[in-house]
Parts: sequence; structure tokens; C-alpha cells
Amino acid sequence: MENRNRTGIPGWKRGLLTAVVGIGMVLAAGAYREQSTEQEQAETLAGYDAAESVSGEKKKIALTFDDGPHPVYTEQLLDGLSERNVKATFFLLGCNIEGNEEIVRRIAEEGHLLGNHTFYHVDITKLSREEACAEILDTSSKITEITDQPVEYVRPPFGNWNQDLECEVMMIPVFWTVDTLDWSTRNADRLVEEVVSEVEENDIILMHDSYDSTVRAALRIIDLLQAQGYEFVTVDELILE
Ligand SMILES: [Zn+2]
Repeated sequence: MENRNRTGIPGWKRGLLTAVVGIGMVLAAGAYREQSTEQEQAETLAGYDAAESVSGEKKKIALTFDDGPHPVYTEQLLDGLSERNVKATFFLLGCNIEGNEEIVRRIAEEGHLLGNHTFYHVDITKLSREEACAEILDTSSKITEITDQPVEYVRPPFGNWNQDLECEVMMIPVFWTVDTLDWSTRNADRLVEEVVSEVEENDIILMHDSYDSTVRAALRIIDLLQAQGYEFVTVDELILE
């Protein structure tokens, strides 16, 4: 549980996230039950399958990458994700998009989810409403210009979000349940070890596609957890609206 205590976000936010995910799982379980009976019976015959969660679905987790796009490492990561047929979520900084438009386009084209991480990596709670909205809206419009898709999710830098913030569009804040601290560790072996030993179903893992060590670790984490039956999904699949 140590990883969960190092998220750096207040307990109420983790609680909120858990509540949202909890509701989502109840809905997902309900919707799934009807079609899964036959499959469950087949699995019962085949014996216990560690790849399946209690509900009979594959265990899901989401990898999220903040602070990109990075001119080198984001593409390396995309290559590895594509080879493994894995979808992830990228929370982009508006200030990193210029010059990297092709990378942003590629992220969208390859089926990953794009989110907003503010323009200059600011603490939203320390800004006026106008400044805060500019940070969000400028970043979203840059992404939308390239991808032609609306941006619905925001990962607030430092996990600091103002629930009362009202801009022209509603944004859904996405926090995390496992903070890898990859920016500080910069050690692929340690990252792999920590994540693989701590991870649980429905976890949202926070990483940064700004480091070679993170890219190497993320791909190994995928290989190891896929072998354990985990399915990697974009965060919108874990946080049902
Ligand atoms: Zn960040």
C-alpha cells in the first residue's frame, strides 16, 4: 500500500476517485452479467483463471503519461505500445505541443486518449478564474486543432483541482491511484519492481513520457502484467461518467 500513500493527493480526492470508480464498476458489472454467464461456465469448467476478476471481466488498469509530448520519448513509447496493442492516456502540456504536432496526431490516430495537463504546468488553485480557464482552454484547443476531437479529461498538475472552476467547457478531473515517482527515480528496474508488486485491478498509474527509463519500464510493466492477465485501457474506461 505504500505507493498509494505517496500519491501526494489529499485523502478526500482519493476517496472521490474510489467512489467514482466504485460506481462505475457496479454499473459495468451489471451490464456485463447477462452476457457473461456462458463464458463464466466455460471458465468454471476450465478451472480458476487468474486473468479474470471477480466479475468475470479481464482485470483492467490504465497507464497515464503526463507532461508530454516529448520529441524523443513519446514516439519510442508509442512504438512499444503499438507492438503490444496497448492503449494508454496522455495528458499533454500545451506548451510542449508546438513543434510536436505530428506526435500529437499519432497519439490520437493510434487510439490513445488525449487529455489536458494545463498549458504551463500550473497549480490551478493558485490562479484567478480567467487565468485558470486560459490554461485549460488554450491547451484543449491546441489538441483539438490537431486531432479534431474534443478534450474532456484534465489531469491537474500536483493533483490540485478547483471543483468550482467553471470555464466554457466541463472538464473531468482524473487523478491517480499509483504514483510511480518516475521523475525522481529514473531507474527502470525499480519502477518495474514497484509497479508490478503494488498494482491492483482498476489502478490508474501515473508516469511521465519524458524519460528513457520510464519508457523502458512502462513496456516491461506491460509485458509482465499482460502475462498476469491484465488488460490496459484508457482512463475513460475506468472512470465512467
Ligand atoms: Zn505534470
